[in-house]
Amino acid sequence: RLKIIQITSGSRELDKILEGGIETGSITELYGEFCSGKTQLIHLPSKCLSCCFILPEGGGEGKALYIDAENTFRPQRLLQIAERFGLNGEDVLENIAYAGAYNTDHQSKFLLVEASMMVETRLALMIFFRSLQKIADEFGVAVVITNQVVAQVDGSAVFAGPQIKRTGGNIMSHATTRRLSFRKGRGEERICKVISATCLAEAEARFQISAQGVTD
Ligand code: ATP
Ligand code: MG
Repeated sequence: RLKIIQITSGSRELDKILEGGIETGSITELYGEFCSGKTQLIHLPSKCLSCCFILPEGGGEGKALYIDAENTFRPQRLLQIAERFGLNGEDVLENIAYAGAYNTDHQSKFLLVEASMMVETRLALMIFFRSLQKIADEFGVAVVITNQVVAQVDGSAVFAGPQIKRTGGNIMSHATTRRLSFRKGRGEERICKVISATCLAEAEARFQISAQGVTD
């Protein structure tokens, strides 16, 4: 078995409740309302972006693959964050492979919604998550997925993504090994809570989103 590595989030508080950071060999699911910091956080572990980071500094010494279904990947943002860690922006970008799954074509979006109603999609999702887990296990990578949830009037939360909303809460929680919920605090403050993880306490951490990315 490959050694498990913790990749720092950029915030010490956040790393503390994660017992080090985002873990290799498992799937971490980030969910929460819009603007709660999910995308910002994955622009950082792409600080495994620290691709060029050495292990003692909280990096993964590896490469990152960013699968973007929302068209939210911002190389500019990474360059900005790279500066904070004294990294060469070009090296950083070179270590990130990007796969845009985003499609502006409304028709295919519609198709996706339709398709997600079908049982096959449920199965496909399960297979997808199982293979994600396999990839995490076998190659020792950290898999991070983000999910937007919308708060309901009664205080409950509903997944915003069509495929997740229709089929997915259960599939997700079985497949992921760490679930973290995100919400907005005052101003730039964000709160992350450990929801379920095999060996983490149900703790909360406060962090900030700044020009330098996720910080304390
Ligand atoms: P969604 O569900 O809509 O995708 P999200 O949880 O992914 O939301 P993020 O995009 O991670 O949300 O967070 C957006 C927040 O990050 C905004 O509040 C914005 O102010 C902050 N932010 C983004 N870029 C910068 C920057 N360059 N400097 C400071 N703050 C920034
Ligand atoms: Mg986002």
